[in-house]
Amino acid sequence: MKHITFYKYVEIEDAEAFVKNHLEFCKFLDLRGKIHAGMEGINGSLSGEEKAIENYMESMKKDPRFNDIDFKISEIEKHAFGKMFVRLKKEIVSSGMGVNIKNKAPYIEAKELKKMLDNDEDVVLIDVRNSYEHEIGHFENAVMPKSETYREWPSIVESQLKKYKDKKIITYCTGGVRCEKATAYLKGQGFKDVSQLHGGIIKYGIECSDSHWKGKCFVFDDRRVVDLDPNKNNGPITQCVMCKMPSSELHNCAYVKCDKMFTACPECLKLLEGCCSRNCRNIKNRDSQREIKTPRFEEEIVA
Ligand SMILES: [Zn+2]
Ligand SMILES: [Zn+2]
Repeated sequence: MKHITFYKYVEIEDAEAFVKNHLEFCKFLDLRGKIHAGMEGINGSLSGEEKAIENYMESMKKDPRFNDIDFKISEIEKHAFGKMFVRLKKEIVSSGMGVNIKNKAPYIEAKELKKMLDNDEDVVLIDVRNSYEHEIGHFENAVMPKSETYREWPSIVESQLKKYKDKKIITYCTGGVRCEKATAYLKGQGFKDVSQLHGGIIKYGIECSDSHWKGKCFVFDDRRVVDLDPNKNNGPITQCVMCKMPSSELHNCAYVKCDKMFTACPECLKLLEGCCSRNCRNIKNRDSQREIKTPRFEEEIVA
């Protein structure tokens, strides 16, 4: 089976009808995954049989709006999603930033970045992803601002990144989509020399293996965590919150009011009844709340 991620900022007229038809088409191909589409473009992650994925990509490329879309393709064993969703969204990744995408920073290709890192060039690599993502794995020496959601970007720039304003900056995220608006925002704030990793970590892994990378890579599908290079099995760089053994199994605290992301081994997770700590477990049991928890992975980011 195959897995693909892709995005493109391009105007989709009558997005509502597009979403409806696109869902039908994906279901017809027996694909599973998540697609966000709207006036500003499309952002998706899909799994399916090789033939179906090929079929999907071919038909997208026949559409002039999407003919230059950059599909990142990987091999998988089984479906990476339970269902197929195509959702109508104002923003294809929720940011609230209100920037003009035309002001995005220029791209730097994966191989070019690798060369710069090989030569130990003076660049500041900034991880645009959330803390729970970069804790699982990240580029060596990257700047990793504390962040719970992408929507915090403007306040992160204000409180944690201003000191890099005059530096040569390269941003990266999982598939590249988050860097588009994040770099437009940086430029708007007077950052002088900004570029973005084209195709994100996923494409870097395909082209440059795990060079200059530490740990694993968080992904927004049922696999949750993958190796940058499927032929290399990198050990976890995170530990179980309880027994402190290496673990890259990420969970979302079952106590609704906590909602923290944490790593735990299967045994400890059972003991903690899905919570991030004994404390959360105890409060959860005391409150015996009936609130239904929406997993954090259902949130706004597709890839
Ligand atoms: Zn444990
Ligand atoms: Zn908790």
